[in-house]
Order: sequence, then structure tokens, then C-alpha cells
Amino acid sequence: MYQTVKGTYDILPDELKNFEDLEDSFRICLELYGYKLMKTPVFEYAGVFKKENDTSDMVTKEMYTFSTNDKDTYALRPEGTAGLIRSVIQNKLYASADMPLKLAYIEEMFRHERPQKGRQRQFTQMGIECLGDKSPLIDAEVIALGYNYIKLVGLKDIKVLINTLGDSASRINYTIALKDYFSKYEDQLCPDCRNRLQKNPLRILDCKIDRDKEFMAEAPKMRDYLTAEAKEYFEKVKGYLDALEIPYTEDDRLVRGLDYYTDTVFEVVSTHADAGAQATVFAGGRYDNLVEELGGPSLSGIGFAIGMERLLLMAEAEDVLSEYEEYVDCYIIDMTKGSSYALKVAENLRTNFYSCIANMYERSMKSQFKSVDRYNANYTVIIGDDEKENNTVTLKDNISKEQYSIAFDKLLEKLEELEKTHE
Ligand code: ATP
Ligand code: MG
Repeated sequence: MYQTVKGTYDILPDELKNFEDLEDSFRICLELYGYKLMKTPVFEYAGVFKKENDTSDMVTKEMYTFSTNDKDTYALRPEGTAGLIRSVIQNKLYASADMPLKLAYIEEMFRHERPQKGRQRQFTQMGIECLGDKSPLIDAEVIALGYNYIKLVGLKDIKVLINTLGDSASRINYTIALKDYFSKYEDQLCPDCRNRLQKNPLRILDCKIDRDKEFMAEAPKMRDYLTAEAKEYFEKVKGYLDALEIPYTEDDRLVRGLDYYTDTVFEVVSTHADAGAQATVFAGGRYDNLVEELGGPSLSGIGFAIGMERLLLMAEAEDVLSEYEEYVDCYIIDMTKGSSYALKVAENLRTNFYSCIANMYERSMKSQFKSVDRYNANYTVIIGDDEKENNTVTLKDNISKEQYSIAFDKLLEKLEELEKTHE
């Protein structure tokens, strides 16, 4: 007997309703802020995600790559941004009159990670990207969208963390300082970080193994290496967030897991007692060079991605998910032991947009009536031999408890009349 592959999960009908609710709220926010959903393929050329000298775990360790001939290597999409930008370039969406471009996605991602609560090998991200303009106003608006979405879902125990990684000039200065500093502790670094020390020392700040080691506390701080422009930019972002009364915490250890971020980076984390190790609900940041790196024009972008499964865990922990009750307009009780007449009644209802359950098997009356309750049917439509003979149905209004004998061709009319009394 087959089971799901490690780190992957089925989403059963009731849980899917929760996912759909979260998606619906997200779609509402997209509309409010003028974002349009799009889709990109599940797999791309690996190069879309893997840049030269990339040091992020996601690219170096977690990508599912495969090849079907000796020439090309493909990757299952580990994140949404790179593929979306590839598409923007390929389809020249940046030539639009309406810049900045505001795009969004809800898609499955694949990463070969160690599965644990809130960490899967296939998971779903809802994300946005705003491309083509660099302004602290946009940064604030993007963070506001994410913050308001979380509020709309109903989560209360959350915290917005922000930081800046500065512009290229700030990054160069900071990288030199970090290299100097961490070189003194090289023997205490994990093997990955020893490698990062040469390639991208910034990554060390984000290391889940070295994070809590003593020397980390004294590591140079980005804020001391920012150029005047980068500093001013970040101050403006914070000023706008203040104006919008979005509470945030500055966290100068926040460097984010992907290599392409510049300037503003942010995370929304859960502060709920049950949040556990995977408390980051979503994360994002600005990227100045990614579009050009992927062969496009020089466009700055900013975006974030919400991990839906993690969001769902938090929504469960805070008990903000809606309860679902079964519901159907009409339940058909068929006592004719499966006649085409009962089938015809059901089809007539459905084609006129009354949902209808008709389990016309040879079930006892008692068990069929139980189903009426289980489905919370508004109406029970009873069809016995008499009804079949006379082309009628017995219609029971389960709200008023009244019962009527109605001709087949008057049923819709009667339902319409009863619906009005229910309003
Ligand atoms: P982490 O540090 O937790 O590994 P990350 O930096 O890799 O996160 P991003 O690539 O920024 O995360 O993804 C954005 C969001 O997607 C995360 O905040 C999280 O909610 C979700 N996410 C990332 N990886 C996974 C995963 N393996 N399983 C479930 N959700 C995930
Ligand atoms: Mg990760």
C-alpha cells in the first residue's frame, strides 16, 4: 500500500475549506491593493532559481532538480519570485503603461528539507511582487497589505520584524566587516558557515546552527555600515509604517534566507505559545538586482510570500478558523427503489441551481431521513410510488416543517415561493 512521500500531505475536504477561506481573504486583499494573480509552471530551467555563487540553503541544498536528457537541468519551483520575474521578462510585462506592476500567485513550492511541524517538502505560498518602482512608500504599502491580510484572517499574536540590508555600497562595506569579524571565530563556525565566510558572510547571521553562539551577539551591525542614502530610505519606510500605525520591531539579525534581497527585509512572526520553532508566517523584501540578473531591464522589486500551511497552524492555534456545517438545498428521499423519475426530479433541481443530494440506493427510510439532518437540507423531497405514478412530489419545508404535494412542473415555482418566506 502506498503512502504519501515524506514531507508531503493530502489536504482532505474539510481542511481544504480552511485553505480556501485563507485564499479568499487573500484575494480580497489583492483586489483592495490592485494586485493580479498569475501562474507560472511548476518546473523551470534550474538556472531560473540558481544564480552563480548563490549561497542560500534553498538553492544549494533544498532544490529538487532533474534532467530528462543530458542537456538541460530543471527544478521544481522552490519559491515564487524567480519564476514570476522570468515570466515578466519573457512576456515583457514591464512595457505596461501601469507601472509599478503588481502581481501575485498562490502556488505549491518544493524544497528538500527535514520535515517537521510547519516545514514540509511540498507547501503552498501566497505571494505578491511589486515591480518597477523603488520608493519607500511601496515598501510600506506592501508590508501594510501583508499586515492587513493577517488581521483579516484574525490572527492577533503576531509581530512584524523589519531590517534593512542596505544598497550595494552598504553591503560591500558590511561584508568586509563581517568577514573580518567571523574570521576570528572560524574554528567555531559550522562547516556551512566556514564556506559562507568566503562566499557570503551575511548568510552566517541567518544560520540555524550558529545563530545562538556567543560570538554572534557582538557581530558587526548592518546599521553601522549603511550609506547615507540607504539609511534615509529605511528611515522613510519606518516613518510611513508609523503613519499607518503598523507596529514593527527592528531586528538587525534579520537577513532573510535568499541571496537576492537588498534594502528593506521583513518577516511576520507568530508570538503565540504554540508557534514552536517555525514561527515565521511570512517573509519578504526588496530586490534591486534580480530582474537584471535574470536577463531583464533594471527594475527594482519588492514582495513577500506567506506560507499557507504555517498560517493555517497559527489560525488553528488562535482558533480563528470558521466551522463548517454540511448544507444542501434539497435532499431527495426515494422510496421507489431507484426509478428514473427520482433521477429526473433531482436533475431538474440541479439544472435550476438547487443543490441536491439523492442517494438513490436501496437504503431504508430511516437512514435516508438521518441524511436529511446530516446535510442540514432546507427541503426534503419525497418520492414514492404514488408520486411517481401521478408525476408529483411531496415537498417538506424543513424550516417551517410544512409539507406539500406538488406537481413536477410546479416544483420550482413552489420552491421560489418558499424561499421568499425564508428570507
Ligand atoms: P525558514 O527560515 O523557516 O526556512 P525561509 O526563509 O526558507 O523560511 P521563505 O523562502 O522566505 O522562507 O518563504 C516564505 C514563507 O514560506 C516562510 O515564512 C514560511 O511560512 C513558508 N515556508 C518556507 N519553507 C517552508 C516549508 N518547507 N514548509 C512550509 N512552509 C514553508
Ligand atoms: Mg528555509
